[in-house]
Amino acid sequence: MAAETNLLRAGVDKLRPYVPGKPIEEVKRELGLPEDLEIIKLASNENLLGPSVRAIEAIRNAAPEIWLYPDDTCYELKNALARFWDITPEQLIIGNGSDEIIHFLALAFLDKDDEVIFAEPSFVQYRAAAMLANVTSVPVPLDAEMRHDLPAMKAAITQRTKMVFIANPNNPTGTVISRAEFELFLKDLPPRVVVVLDQAYYEYVENDDSPSALDYIREGHNVVALHTFSKAYALAGLRIGYGIATPQLAGYLQQVRGPFNVNLVAQAAAIASLSDTDQVATAFACTRAGLEQMYEAFQSMGLSYVPSEANFVLFDCGREAKPVADELLKRGIIVRVGFGLPTMMRVTVGPRVMNERFISSLREVLAA
Ligand code: PMP
Repeated sequence: MAAETNLLRAGVDKLRPYVPGKPIEEVKRELGLPEDLEIIKLASNENLLGPSVRAIEAIRNAAPEIWLYPDDTCYELKNALARFWDITPEQLIIGNGSDEIIHFLALAFLDKDDEVIFAEPSFVQYRAAAMLANVTSVPVPLDAEMRHDLPAMKAAITQRTKMVFIANPNNPTGTVISRAEFELFLKDLPPRVVVVLDQAYYEYVENDDSPSALDYIREGHNVVALHTFSKAYALAGLRIGYGIATPQLAGYLQQVRGPFNVNLVAQAAAIASLSDTDQVATAFACTRAGLEQMYEAFQSMGLSYVPSEANFVLFDCGREAKPVADELLKRGIIVRVGFGLPTMMRVTVGPRVMNERFISSLREVLAA
């Protein structure tokens, strides 16, 4: 048989599958942890309070319908979202998670010779999208405060720049940009640049000086907002997210969308969730309290951290973080390390008792 060489399209050869936070069952299996040890996953920024009861009811009601293909146009969900944001349905693109919208952005807009700018560290799928499209990635380091360095990102723009990804809040730092910084960034931007403001953690932001993409989309800018039901709405397992843009840009994204990309159960749950503002408000309040609890604990341990506007916090273990994460895993706590920051650890913030379990385990591991 002929050797399989060079089968892959250029760019794809460097891509590696996304490495997600470990699922709870996998951790139990791999480490042979006791059956009765409750494992808490603080590695993927899910909402530990869980989804709206309305979503669960909608899922039950949708269950007998799953022999049908879903509504390919997401008609009801788009109308619900249009009312929610005061936009038109034509401004929306719905995806199998906002990950899929990032995919669509690459498929629709990125072509040979293009360059894609994103911060480093930031959400890894921006680089993956550039690699998939076989275009040039231009990572720009965060500034000294671990925030997006928008002046440096602007300075990195060339005639070949096609797309800029800004996660606001950023993952893994939880930092936000300010409105003034964003407006300066947008000023005199070449019209061929698409600016993606990834607002996956939008519902958790307290800082009222942080920009909302919609203000700029309304002005006609080539800005795409990314949103998800995976985080505050706690529907990560259903995979549903969306993008908002001008009708023209959203229309381009529709052109690359596959048929029936958003399943029927997810559509029903998302519609129900949108109507439950209390569920999101509760998640917000719990997270803000949890962040304070974490900050206090870090201060008492002499650990520095990055103040966060999201439902996670990045902190400095003061030593290599990977062995600390491994020790936490043995105690049933899954966290995230990596990001090219060897001493830093990212932990999802949840309800008080879970945060407390993380904090006391961390104390124990660091004291050992
Ligand atoms: N953007 C950011 C910044 C994220 O952190 C995540 C999830 N880790 C996503 C997008 C993707 O979320 P989803 O595909 O679940 O909507």
